Order: sequence, then C-alpha cells, then structure tokens
Amino acid sequence: MEKLYFLAMQYRRNQEIIGYGVQARSRTPDQKRERRAMVRALVDQRGITDNVVLEAMNVVPRHLFVAEALRAHAYEDNSLPIGFGQTISQPYIVARMTELLEVRKGTRVLEIGTGSGYQAAVLATIGCHVFSLERIPELYRATTSLLRQLGYSNVQVYKSDGTLGFPQAAPYERILVTAGGPKVPETLLRQLDEGGIMIIPVGDRPREQTLLKIRKTNGRITAENLDSVVFVNLVGNEGWAR
Ligand code: SAH
Repeated sequence: MEKLYFLAMQYRRNQEIIGYGVQARSRTPDQKRERRAMVRALVDQRGITDNVVLEAMNVVPRHLFVAEALRAHAYEDNSLPIGFGQTISQPYIVARMTELLEVRKGTRVLEIGTGSGYQAAVLATIGCHVFSLERIPELYRATTSLLRQLGYSNVQVYKSDGTLGFPQAAPYERILVTAGGPKVPETLLRQLDEGGIMIIPVGDRPREQTLLKIRKTNGRITAENLDSVVFVNLVGNEGWAR
C-alpha cells in the first residue's frame, strides 16, 4: 500500500515537473494567492517576524512538495503525509524552526530528515548551503530528483543515518533535525561549529518532544527548552531503534 502510494506520488511529481513550464504558460494556478495567505497567517496568527524566512516561504512552491491529491491543502497550516509513515512538517513549524536557526545567505546548514525536501528548499531559497540526510531510500531518490528539477542547486542530499551526521563536510554553522529522538546525538554536537546553533526536537516518548535550541560557545554546550512539538521518529544509531 505504501509502495503504491509512493509510486502514484512519484508519477504525479514527474508529470508536474515535465509539465512545469507548459503549465506556467497556460496559467495553471501556481497557488501564489494561497501561498501569500499562508505567509500572512504565519505573521498574524503565529507571530513569525523574520522577513528572510517569510520571504522564502512566500516563494517556495509548497504544493509541488506533496502528492497532487493533497495539493489543494498544501497551504493550510497542517503537516501532510508524504508516504512511508512520514510527513512534511506544517508551515508554522518550518517557519519557527528556520527562524530559530538564525540563518542568512551563505550559512552552512546540515539538515537531518530530508523528507519532502520542503524545509531544505526554504533554506536554499534563503541562500544557505544545505547538506541534507535522509534514511529512507525511496524518499531520498524522489526528493533528490525533485530538488534537482526545481533548480535547488545549493542543496546536497545524501542517503544515510543522520544521527551519525555527515563528517565529510563538518563542521556546520547550523544543524537542523526534523525528526524526534530520545536524546541529542553526541556525534551531531561534535559536528557543530564553534558559535553554532542546533535546533532539535527531543523526547523520551515517540511523537512527543520538546524543541531544543542548542549553542556551542567556547566549546561549551548550552540548551534552551522551547515549544512542545510532535515529530515523526528519528530512527538510527543515536535515535530510536525503529
Ligand atoms: N524536513 C522534512 C520533514 C520530513 S519528516 C520536510 O520538510 O518534509 C522527517 C524525515 O526524517 C523523514 O523523511 C524520515 O525518514 C527522516 N529520518 C528519520 N530518522 C532519520 C535518520 N536517522 N537519518 C535521516 N533521516 C531520518
């Protein structure tokens, strides 16, 4: 069933990508109005203030990161299924986490949990250099190809257990974990640069976490507990077993 859903979704995505230019010319809705309304609501109802984040979210076509059947709901403030029991995070969470990450053009960011690629696309639109890790091979493949076709050249996606980080390009100025584990992976703390910030949901029960903002200053780690959040499980060596 999962497999079928995935194939259907990939087919839709491919159709969309192939028809992209054509559709733009033939005035198929690019959902600009819905996107602007989403951004307005992030400001008015959710208190997001960082214009760099808001402008990026006003540009990234979120509807292209979900299956066509869900496209009408792409700009509602909800998470949506992307297959394999995973979800694209709700717009508010993406905005909140990106704001907390304090990124600017040129910031080097490691993301754990590529999923749909939407969060990575938002960071790339800001101008960050993004390394993103995904453990599920099918999601890795579909999202790598989507990001390439949409032209996000400053995102590099790898298929691996993100709790082990990506030593090849470490250290990172910022690390963003978009799945929830029982603790902060030691390996990720080591790969965080001096002066760096990590945003990560942590909780000792699955699907129930606290968002942490971690800083590394003069080699010292400090953590600030923020919002209660619900993320899918971080599965891996320094995450949940499954
Ligand atoms: N940032 C994503 C959110 C996807 S949900 C988006 O914008 O759509 C979280 C993702 O984390 C899932 O795709 C899941 O497969 C992935 N994941 C969970 N544990 C992981 C791990 N140890 N390494 C890499 N990816 C992981």
